Amino acid sequence: MLKRYKTLQQPWMKSVLLIQDEILSALRDFLRSEGFIEILAPIIGPVTDPGIRGAQQVTINYYGARFKIMSSMILYKQMAAASLKKVFALSPNIRIEPLETIATGRHLAEFRQLDVENAHANYYDAMSIAERLLAYTCKRILKNRRNELQFLERKLEIPKVPFKKLTYQEAVEMLKAEGFKIKYGEEIPWDAERFLSSMFEQPFFIIDYPLSARGFYDREDPERPGILRDFDMYYPEGYGEAISGGEREHTFKAVVERMRLTGENPADYGWYLEMLKDGIPPSAGFGIGVERLTRWICGLKHVWDAVPFPKVPGIVSP
Ligand code: AMP
Ligand code: MG
Repeated sequence: MLKRYKTLQQPWMKSVLLIQDEILSALRDFLRSEGFIEILAPIIGPVTDPGIRGAQQVTINYYGARFKIMSSMILYKQMAAASLKKVFALSPNIRIEPLETIATGRHLAEFRQLDVENAHANYYDAMSIAERLLAYTCKRILKNRRNELQFLERKLEIPKVPFKKLTYQEAVEMLKAEGFKIKYGEEIPWDAERFLSSMFEQPFFIIDYPLSARGFYDREDPERPGILRDFDMYYPEGYGEAISGGEREHTFKAVVERMRLTGENPADYGWYLEMLKDGIPPSAGFGIGVERLTRWICGLKHVWDAVPFPKVPGIVSP
């Protein structure tokens, strides 16, 4: 393997970084044009996102208190949306992913996420923002970084909105018909995620996950108990999950009940539950991984080629 400082000098890597620079501008420009306000995210705090699917959080000693490094700033963006209504933040997340995720080519132990939250919006509003954000970003890359895409031999098209929506149940049935063994109620396994994504040529949504598959903050549909008002966006061509999002469970009572189901200890969530007790508005939003977005736009084999200083699960590196 080349030393990292040498990899950074390779023409292909320079093309990726120039495209990534344009992606970052496009994401911000689009959200600002939609009235979203950029806020600074916390990097450490007493609690972080517990819904991280088998990955471990990192705990540090903060003046004698146990603090976490953010696995995502989801709980904090709800606090900010209660004030500014439409907010976003681009921040690093740390997740000690299981070693076997190295085989997916789409997991890093340190990645950046663009987190978006919109007070009083529903999950269809959030999907509309997400799909237009993606289409706009592709348009900008095709306009301003065409030479770099050509150098990478990537044929990118602007995806057509609205994107197709499959329910979780439909996705599971499609996968079962292809021989995958998935039980209704589980998360879609990594290999099935790649396969499902490879069945499509345009990005698409999977909506309405079952309660048992997600964290306590995805809102249960009051009219369809057991079903969440949430979604993932998938890239096509085998690239897999791009985004997770949904409406938030935001009342104290509902969140404590959901924490019991997911095995979280409400006592660990001091400030968050106090905030809910005082009352925050309903909201919906999503998070999109920047390296995965770069990977798909550039057509790269591995997500660790889409970041200047990658932290690959299990590998000690600069
Ligand atoms: P999640 O909260 O796990 O759904 O993560 C939100 C988004 O962040 C995902 O849809 C991905 O785009 C991205 N993401 C999550 N985990 C990772 C990871 N280990 N490496 C790179 N990107 C990730
Ligand atoms: Mg997800």
